[in-house]
Amino acid sequence: MDTHKKLIETCLESKKKAYTPYSHFNVGAAVETEDGEIFGGANIEIASYSPTICAERNAIFSAVYQGARKIVRIAITGDSENTFPCGVCRQVMREFGPDMEVLIVKDKDHVRTFTLEELLPHSFGPEDLENV
Ligand SMILES: [Zn+2]
Repeated sequence: MDTHKKLIETCLESKKKAYTPYSHFNVGAAVETEDGEIFGGANIEIASYSPTICAERNAIFSAVYQGARKIVRIAITGDSENTFPCGVCRQVMREFGPDMEVLIVKDKDHVRTFTLEELLPHSFGPEDLENV
């Protein structure tokens, strides 16, 4: 299976693992690292709400924990066909892949592609802290 197809399938499968007893709004994500590895994640909600984590960050942190430092692509699917990453996740995406592609997945045949630059223009990143 090619990496692109596997990324989308992992994203769709990950959504089934969401833990959302409060919103019932399930989201799945999958990231592809520069080495071609794929990591999935789903949103997990907590009763006090604040510790809740989005699918995108769950997938990214999973990859980073396993040693990845550069993410080239992320696929996201949710209960709405317009499930885009929240602002917090966009900033985390910026940290590990300023040039990453963002795939918004309705199903395996309906995928829209964006750049992170389109979703988070004029962003702040690690290089902004250099030469201070
Ligand atoms: Zn988020």
